[in-house]
Amino acid sequence: MKKTVIYILLSLVCLPSFGWGREGHETIAKIAENNLKPGAKKKIEKYLGGHSIVYYAKWMDDYRKTPEYKFTDSWHVAPVDSSLHYSDALLNRKKGNAVYGLEQAIEVLKNYREHDDSTVAVNIKYVLHLVGDMHCPAHIKYSNHNMSYNVFFCDKANKLYIHSVWDYAVIQKTRIWCPTEWAAELDRVDARTRKEISAGGPREWMHDNAVRCEVQFDLAKPDQYLGQDFLNAAVPLIETQILYGGLRLAAILNDLF
Ligand SMILES: [Zn+2]
Repeated sequence: MKKTVIYILLSLVCLPSFGWGREGHETIAKIAENNLKPGAKKKIEKYLGGHSIVYYAKWMDDYRKTPEYKFTDSWHVAPVDSSLHYSDALLNRKKGNAVYGLEQAIEVLKNYREHDDSTVAVNIKYVLHLVGDMHCPAHIKYSNHNMSYNVFFCDKANKLYIHSVWDYAVIQKTRIWCPTEWAAELDRVDARTRKEISAGGPREWMHDNAVRCEVQFDLAKPDQYLGQDFLNAAVPLIETQILYGGLRLAAILNDLF
């Protein structure tokens, strides 16, 4: 009986695929906010009803299942081919993906003055979330790797979907800081490195992410027990992705506004 209840609870925990969870998305947005030009920050917050970009970092996850935003439900992940590149050949136009949604939103925001306020606001929300999702290891869909398997996370009884490990389990196990504190810890790179990280655009970043994050399949194999050794390797990868996501998000927004 007890076992059945545990399995039901675990399967409920394993179902959603919400990229990073709150902590990751908000920390990426906080790093971006710290790197926004004052003018860009002011304009963006005006469109967001006075709220910061951190406030809306997870908004797309909260609204993806609503009738109004159901069309964005598949935007949270993006595929790469066997050479770890994203291309239009991989796009399912009916469903879309993170790069598709991001590029569309950027196109709209290039002429933000020509759109009504609510169109600008929702496209800002798309940009700040999708840059986050495309930096989450589990949200890069590799054509040459099986991505749906379970592992035992930090406890032999804690069977977890691998996706959830990268989405939130490592973060919640090791980094219980608030986004402001975590952002301050991560964002300590010099101006030159900052520039190098944000060079390019969504497609180049997708490739860069896919190359760096491919190690996830060596770090966590099906049914493997993941303990401290795994955490010691996973945390630096996750923290790099969060920092890069934040700096790249700032670069997009500074460019647009
Ligand atoms: Zn998401």
